Amino acid sequence: MKTKTVYLKNFGCQMNNADAEQLLGVLHRAGYRATDRPEEADLILLNTCAIREKAEQKVFSDLGRLKVFKAKDPGVLIGVLGCVAQAEGKKILAREPAVDFVAGTRGTAEVPEMIRKARAGERSLFLSLEDEFDPGRFRNESIRESRVAALVPIIYGCDNFCSYCVVPYVRGREWSRPAAEILQEVRELAGRGYKEITLIGQNVNSYGKKSKENEDFCGLLHLLHEVNGLERIRFVTSHPKDLSRSVIAAMASLHKICEALHLPVQSGSDRVLRDMNRGYSRSDYLKKVERLREAIPGIALTTDIIVGFPGESEADFEETLSLIREADFDRLFAFRFSPRAGTAAEKLPDPVDEETAGRRLAAVLDLQKEQTLRKHQALVGTTVEVLVEGANPKVSGEWMGRTRANKIVHFGGGRTVPGDLVDVRIEKGLPNCLTGRVVSS
Ligand code: SF4
Repeated sequence: MKTKTVYLKNFGCQMNNADAEQLLGVLHRAGYRATDRPEEADLILLNTCAIREKAEQKVFSDLGRLKVFKAKDPGVLIGVLGCVAQAEGKKILAREPAVDFVAGTRGTAEVPEMIRKARAGERSLFLSLEDEFDPGRFRNESIRESRVAALVPIIYGCDNFCSYCVVPYVRGREWSRPAAEILQEVRELAGRGYKEITLIGQNVNSYGKKSKENEDFCGLLHLLHEVNGLERIRFVTSHPKDLSRSVIAAMASLHKICEALHLPVQSGSDRVLRDMNRGYSRSDYLKKVERLREAIPGIALTTDIIVGFPGESEADFEETLSLIREADFDRLFAFRFSPRAGTAAEKLPDPVDEETAGRRLAAVLDLQKEQTLRKHQALVGTTVEVLVEGANPKVSGEWMGRTRANKIVHFGGGRTVPGDLVDVRIEKGLPNCLTGRVVSS
């Protein structure tokens, strides 16, 4: 089979990254190799994200740029995948004749067949969110970016319907991969030298809840902990309402589970949390933080914050700032609210003006900057375990890796290769990373 080339432009979250890795695996089997030069590609794919503002316009403007390659060579195929494809698939096909196929969030495995149809002159659309189209198919053939740390999807979709979020509409209802399939994938990864896995899903804590035969999330953690050769386990994202005592206990007792947790709070105000349909209160959240800190000393907590949600008053916002201080996060991701079509929050009254939302976003980021720097500086003089991921792109002869708390470390000294676990003495705490030197390898 003659090798063809695919240019894949990927946007968005870790689930999209994992889908892109799976897609490259599926296409590899179909005879494609990846290129980062769209001008030499036989196939151009956009794996889209609906979370970003003006996501749809972005897709059409990207298509406008990329279709010039098809205009030069009509044999080039163009496909659109991911969350915007799921939400706007019909519109994309109707409005952009250069697009040959559109596959939604569970359509990765269908792409080779859609390519075949396109070569025969047929445009196609795959938007099913039904479970029988197992989105985990061919997952073990993924072509991964890292040779050390792998993303492993365990649950797709979401049943929570937070009022601002499009995910339940574009990724469908929760569907958990069978534990045996995940275990097999993780064993294979460990056998190929992967040291770390991150279990991913919109809400990993819901894993297995819908099936009596399957493990629950805690059972899955215990199962994967036994995999020989695997050194570290992480997972993301955890919904605060579903983070159970048993998962906290598993994190405390299973040494391969890293002392790091991303627990998106979104707001510190009960009123805003209720309007967001988050299903927990400020005090529920802070109690879980306390439980985590008691059970797992030194745990690094990170979060997401939305500012400027409709109706967010100055007092509500102050509650968010005070929660950030109280929870003492290691890092956070903050976003300014913007309405997403079809969500409940789109219809909420009382919008927060742009200037106020911008000021609040800056205040959250400034506060967190201080907290992160303080925490990084407190690590100076300590020795931490680092999983070596690769060369430091900025300093030749130095390495880059992550601590168990998921902090990036740039370091020199010692003879190491990617995949090694080394002890590094921290010399500097910077705003976004740590620097140090190897003390053992
Ligand atoms: S838990 Fe809420 S924010 Fe997360 S994916 Fe589901 S609906 Fe969206």
